[in-house]
Amino acid sequence: MDFELSEDQRAFRDTAREFAQREFAPHAARWDAEAEFPREALRHAGELGFCGLYALEAYGGLGLPRLDASIVFEELAAACPSTTAYLTIHNMATWMVTRFAQPAVAAEWGARLASGEWLASYCLTEPGAGSDAAALTTRARRQGEDYVLDGTKAFISGAGATDALVVMARTGEAGHKGISAFLVAADSPGIAYGKKEHKMGWNSQPTRSIAFDAVRVPASQRLGAEGEGFAIAMKGLDGGRINIATCSVGAAQGALNAALAYVHERRQFGRPLADFQALQFKLADMATELVAARQMVRLAASRLDAEADDATLYCAMAKRLATDLGFAICNEALQIHGGYGYIREYPLERYLRDARVHQILEGTNEIMRVIIARRVLAQIHPETLQ
Ligand SMILES: Cc1cc2nc3c(=O)[nH]c(=O)nc-3n(C[C@H](O)[C@H](O)[C@H](O)COP(=O)(O)OP(=O)(O)OC[C@H]3O[C@@H](n4cnc5c(N)ncnc54)[C@H](O)[C@@H]3O)c2cc1C
Repeated sequence: MDFELSEDQRAFRDTAREFAQREFAPHAARWDAEAEFPREALRHAGELGFCGLYALEAYGGLGLPRLDASIVFEELAAACPSTTAYLTIHNMATWMVTRFAQPAVAAEWGARLASGEWLASYCLTEPGAGSDAAALTTRARRQGEDYVLDGTKAFISGAGATDALVVMARTGEAGHKGISAFLVAADSPGIAYGKKEHKMGWNSQPTRSIAFDAVRVPASQRLGAEGEGFAIAMKGLDGGRINIATCSVGAAQGALNAALAYVHERRQFGRPLADFQALQFKLADMATELVAARQMVRLAASRLDAEADDATLYCAMAKRLATDLGFAICNEALQIHGGYGYIREYPLERYLRDARVHQILEGTNEIMRVIIARRVLAQIHPETLQ
């Protein structure tokens, strides 16, 4: 067992850190305040390969292991959790296209998505189907060489600003076996976007509903076979959960860094805050929990890279733990800043607002517990857990 980063991993980390400090950190507060989607910065991220980190190399991706992708995302998230979280969703959708589309479609769309020329959204949730995603009702009916899509998706990240939609829709029976996945051009006739949602955080990326009214999609743009769409969506989400967990680790690292600097600068009772043991203990717990969260995420990423049978279990564990701890660490860092933590001149309240939604999306943390409990209870020998 080796906990050291390899030379390549250290190089990815350093490149990502330098990029994030130059391209994200100076603008993140403005993107948040003005709800600006930073298209140019994302394009620059694409130039470094960050738009297709683990997408298949044959179709323009870097083909990196999830562990390496996580190392990159963590550095980006420490500068701007919101923009990085969108980038991770784009990476998830791009991987799905390069992994499950027909070769000609993967070649055409994959290269543009992996380079950041085009951006993607992942469309699973519906107004009536959130946690119970397999109950989705958006329909795809076969008509000749096309499918015709009707229905509504809710809470879609990037919607209205992206070029490609990965859409899960019902082609068959009720339940998860009747669902198929499609790659849909975002400007197809019959697509209508809802208003930009006003959100607590994640303001540097738009969230909108999408209505599909008789939208024609070539059958060649189905991902995988009919009926495989839910399994494909869940495979995407295993990686997505590592990514969102990583965004929480990055946000927590950013918040902890700010708190560590602040306790030396700020003086009360004639002494720097760093002298007070109550705050020292807080910082000790924050640092310990941050390392625990990071290692849990890396373990889950390794299980996914190994295509282990229990990868889904570890991805759910990592998502639950890292997003809960990440939010708590951001909150403690805000507390250490006193009143200054609550005002927008400092980044703490932004980290907190951005990290909050990580406990809700890509499966809520209650649903993560459902996944974990189901698998743990099915284990005959629980001591085989790592
Ligand atoms: C900012 C934002 C961006 C998003 N981006 C995307 C996106 O890009 N693509 C996409 O497809 N979706 C996206 N989502 C949707 C997100 O994945 C869902 O909001 C989430 O899965 C929860 O669904 P819901 O909101 O319908 O809540 P519900 O499913 O209605 O849940 C409500 C509450 O009940 C709990 N609950 C539900 N069922 C159970 C159960 N069986 N046991 C215990 N507790 C339960 C939940 O944990 C939650 O606390 C986004 C959401 C947000 C807020």
